Order: sequence, then C-alpha cells, then structure tokens
Amino acid sequence: MQISGTTKLLGLLGTPVAHSKSPAMYNYCFQKFGLDWAYLAFDISQTQIGAAVAAMRTLSMRGANVTMPCKTAVIPYLDRLTPAAAAIQAVNTIVNEDGVLVGHNTDGCGYTQNLRRGGVDVKGKKIVLLGGGGAASAIAIQAALDGAAEIAIFNLRDAFWDQITQRVKAIGEAAPSCTLSLHDLADTATLRRAIDGCDILSNATRVGMEPNVDDTMIPDSSWFRPELVVTDVVYAPPQTRLLRDAKAAGCRTFDGLGMLLCQGAEAFHLYSGLEMPVEEIRKLLYESP
Ligand code: NAD
Repeated sequence: MQISGTTKLLGLLGTPVAHSKSPAMYNYCFQKFGLDWAYLAFDISQTQIGAAVAAMRTLSMRGANVTMPCKTAVIPYLDRLTPAAAAIQAVNTIVNEDGVLVGHNTDGCGYTQNLRRGGVDVKGKKIVLLGGGGAASAIAIQAALDGAAEIAIFNLRDAFWDQITQRVKAIGEAAPSCTLSLHDLADTATLRRAIDGCDILSNATRVGMEPNVDDTMIPDSSWFRPELVVTDVVYAPPQTRLLRDAKAAGCRTFDGLGMLLCQGAEAFHLYSGLEMPVEEIRKLLYESP
C-alpha cells in the first residue's frame, strides 16, 4: 500500500506507546481491505492531550485510539460521549464523524464480544467481577447494558474505594435493569458464596500479570466448578494461573488477549464499518514465532 495525497491518518494517543501492536494490527487491516488510511503511534502525555485532539480536528483525522494515561483526561476536548464512556468517564476510541469527535469505550464491548464469539452471552447472567479499576468498569457497564442480571464487584478497600462506589452508582443509573453490588475483596466468605452462585467469574485486576505469573485471586481450586465460565483481562501472559487452574477444574475460559483483539475489532468497525479478521490478527501478531 502506498501513502498518497489522499491518505487519511489515524493513530494511538497515550504514553508509553512504543511497544504497542495497534499500528501493526490496524495497518494490516487497512491494507487487507484496501483502505487509503495509515495508523501511527503518538507519545502523548495528559498535558498534551488537548493539543493532540485539536490536531485531530485540524488534520481531519478519521479517528484515534486512546490509551493510558489519557483515557479520562481526553474527555473535556471531545464533542460527544457514548452512554458507556460517559458512565465510566473513560474513552479509548475517538471517531471523527464529519468534524464531530465522538468518544467511545470499546474495552467492555471487547469483553462481551469475545465471550459471544465463544458462544457465551452475558444476557441474564450473574457475574462476579474482581477489581474496580478501568478494565473492571468497562466490563461492568457493557455487561450491564448487554443485559447481565447481576454483577457483584469485589475490590480492595483501598484509597480508591469512594471513587469506585461513585462509579458503580453511575453504572447502575445508566443500566438500571442490572443489580450491581460492591464488596470488600477481603471478605472471603461473601466472595466464596458469590462465586458459588454466579455464572461468570471475571478477573479484572492486574493479578497474574508478568512478572508475577504465579499469582492468582483464587488460590483454592475447589472454588471452581465445571459450569463456571472463568475470564481474565490480563493478556501478558494470555494463559494466566487463574485460567490454567480453572481449565484444569473443567471450566470454560476466555483470555485477555481475546478481549484485547475484540476491543480493537470494535474500534476498527467504528472507523470503517468492516469486520476485523480477529483470528488472523491473533496468529499474525501474537502466535507467530
Ligand atoms: P487499574 O489500575 O485501573 O485497576 C487495577 C485493579 O486491580 C484495581 O481494582 C486494583 O484494586 C486491583 N489490584 C491491583 N493489585 C491487586 C492485588 N494485589 N490484589 C487485588 N487487587 C489488586 O488498571 P486497569 O486499567 O483496570 O488494568 C487492569 C489489568 O487489565 C491490567 O493487567 C491491564 O493490562 C488489563 N487490561 C486488559 C485489557 C484487555 O483488553 N484485555 C484492557 C484494559 C486493561
């Protein structure tokens, strides 16, 4: 594919971005579908994000993905937010709709879509969600909007507790048909009871991430049962200790890499209206030697 006088620009905004596989993923798709678009990573701090969004307008960029630490800082510079992005005050995708910059959050769609691709619909399900940070909030709002019956969130009672309480309230207001509750992660009796009664156990903390690959939130395998679906947001490594233990106990599991690819696929769909070949990208970027 040649860059020409008509090539449209898209990009990634945040820092650090040098390690990101997003440019390879999106440029591969642009080439595959013959789109006259190009995607670059821009190292942008929170203090630069307003200027970066102004540049998006000036350069008529088709869109941008937003990563840490800019997901919330970008909001004041956008024209409109989707209900999910507004409820959790985090944007990871900006689409330029004829000069109107719309902020989306595709992390939660990535989660529910990854499950759907494997034949699991969150509609009517009871979910235990470990963690109350960015990934957890994105999962909670999308699962609630997609019809989950109950979401019990367990987080450390740390300095972020009041902030998480407010966010859970906002999610409940945006998706009133879902019953949300927030619990102290240290209350293991309540956690055990909740897992016994749920359909999906979802880790949305950093626990299990490299280099601490032997850490898990569920140290006792007797907490698993074969009907339980177990998911992880951690994608480095994709097969976390939680997922390995759950699989050994007979559970169906879904990894964070699937979620990551599906959130990218959702953003690509918002930019182009086209379907990203998720399995092809997974093999190309993450499974080739
Ligand atoms: P965050 O800092 O916003 O939240 C981290 C969460 O982990 C908080 O709830 C915190 O209380 C909890 N936590 C941290 N250490 C803990 C511990 N030792 N015990 C119990 N809880 C602990 O971070 P985030 O942006 O939500 O990211 C969390 C993880 O999700 C990271 O591994 C990140 O790479 C991953 N992530 C994956 C995707 C994906 O598409 N797969 C998307 C976003 C984030």
